[in-house]
Amino acid sequence: MLRLSEKMSRLGTETAFEVLARADALARQGRDIVNLGIGQPDFKTPGHVVEAAVKALRDGHHGYTPAPGILELREAVAADIALRRSVEVDPAHIVVVPGGKVTMFFAIAMFGEPGADILYPNPGFPIYESVINWSGARAVAIPLLEERDFSFDAQAVLDLVTPRTRLVILNSPANPTGGAVPRAAIERLVEGLLEHPRVAVLSDEIYSRMTYDGREHVSLLDFPEIADRLILLDGWSKTYAMTGWRMGYGVWPQALVEGATRLAVNCHSCVNAAAQYAGLAALTGPQDSVHEMVRAFDRRRRVIVDGLNRLPGVRCRTPGGAFYAFPNVTGTGMEARTLQSLLLEEAGVATVAGTSFGAHGEGYLRFSYANSVENIERALERIAALLA
Ligand code: PLP
Repeated sequence: MLRLSEKMSRLGTETAFEVLARADALARQGRDIVNLGIGQPDFKTPGHVVEAAVKALRDGHHGYTPAPGILELREAVAADIALRRSVEVDPAHIVVVPGGKVTMFFAIAMFGEPGADILYPNPGFPIYESVINWSGARAVAIPLLEERDFSFDAQAVLDLVTPRTRLVILNSPANPTGGAVPRAAIERLVEGLLEHPRVAVLSDEIYSRMTYDGREHVSLLDFPEIADRLILLDGWSKTYAMTGWRMGYGVWPQALVEGATRLAVNCHSCVNAAAQYAGLAALTGPQDSVHEMVRAFDRRRRVIVDGLNRLPGVRCRTPGGAFYAFPNVTGTGMEARTLQSLLLEEAGVATVAGTSFGAHGEGYLRFSYANSVENIERALERIAALLA
């Protein structure tokens, strides 16, 4: 018998991948499946970005790079942050990692241990809760509320902070709800955190470029009063349709950047060199493909929200960002997981039960609208027929 460490038993997973596997299995049996389960853009990486990676390989960029990433890339990230968030960050504080998830993992590994509390959004990206549990820390849920368009009550979050609290994780725009936290809530939270100077903040802004209805993206970098304990997570996966390239970055405060770099050295040495050159081309090249993709998501968002609200027993808030709709399905009389299975097996529509994103997701389903309007309409018709 192999003896694994106890913490392995506490590591969770992302059930969206299980839905994907089941949807693929059904498709292989010849079933016509509309996949609204998957959390990645249905667009291809822009051509000039692909070409930059090919060129990097041809130019001989085959070796290790500095652990936190090539300097030119970190400078481009800093310039992009200056452009979009109007904040100056030192390229020396940026650590490029293989995907957004890695910054999350490093931050939680740095602060999580038995006796510590980490606050995280629920329903939220499932890896937060999983890695917090793995680290031995206690995962304390920040409930996201439908009546607040899946934002939070800042005072309720502050009430969860105790002397054990080490880290607060925020995510806006959010997976799985599409919620975007309004500036007033963030201001109130930051103000309250000034009374807790030992609490760090991880702000997952991986959907920062995907906001709708003229909404501004509110970045935690905008609050210099917590800059010395803020970790910003962003990356290329969603913005540039690059989920398979594994490219993300963290902006770390002075006190933590050395630790993050040391974790990178211990874990992956550096990110794939050619992928880094692709990332550089993405940031410094034309942005029309980003705008085009976000415009397409916006159109689909309207179609799916209207359609969901017409279904019996379903009501859906209008998401302010990302590419997910998170309807309340309690009116169908079914639990989220039951409805998820029924929709996949009977209607051939892949969605993800809200409970895959935490206990506060019961009563909801996540629909990704990273799919064509035609497919979204087809899915809605099938669901309407099933629920009728
Ligand atoms: N953060 C959130 C909120 C996400 O939804 C995702 C991916 O779905 C990630 C981080 C991870 O992104 P990456 O694929 O770059 O690791």
